[in-house]
Amino acid sequence: MSNPFKHPKPESKPMEIPALGELRKKVHQQGKTLRATLKKLKQKPPRDLDEQFEKLHNQAFKKIDCLNCGNCCKTTSPMLFEKDIERLAARFNMKPGDFVRHYLTIDSDGLYCFQQTPCPFLGDDNACSVYEDRPKACREFPHTNHRKMHTHLALAHHNVEICPAVFAIVEQLKA
Ligand code: SF4
Ligand code: SF4
Repeated sequence: MSNPFKHPKPESKPMEIPALGELRKKVHQQGKTLRATLKKLKQKPPRDLDEQFEKLHNQAFKKIDCLNCGNCCKTTSPMLFEKDIERLAARFNMKPGDFVRHYLTIDSDGLYCFQQTPCPFLGDDNACSVYEDRPKACREFPHTNHRKMHTHLALAHHNVEICPAVFAIVEQLKA
């Protein structure tokens, strides 16, 4: 297993990850500009928006080692769908209903999420102990290399305070 977390190991020397408080401070300092860029992109998405995101996403994860960060798993829960629950329950030889009772709750949108943050499956070394069976939302986080990225800008807005990769991407986007 190369890297039991979100993204492959970076190709070059990994970037230093700012502490969560530092990242929030940077977002706060640049908040007006970042929000204005995201608003413009949402109102009038350029044709090459998906390509811009894909390029910047790949650039960011060439420099960022998620094992030096773990902010997402420490601060937010993924949504879990039926297939995620079945897969994770099978891993622990549990019935899906027992897995739900033991680990999950329902959020304000009526969706399953973990009862606690940090995630119960996050190790002290920031590795995911259920990596092969992790929820789909974990596989796709930080949602910066989807098709039709103009429909995912609200997520980018939310995640910019959590994920240094999203911050690096949004900072360089061109509206
Ligand atoms: S399941 Fe793994 S990747 Fe998903 S939040 Fe938990 S530790 Fe992170
Ligand atoms: S917050 Fe972003 S950079 Fe940090 S571990 Fe999660 S995906 Fe990786």
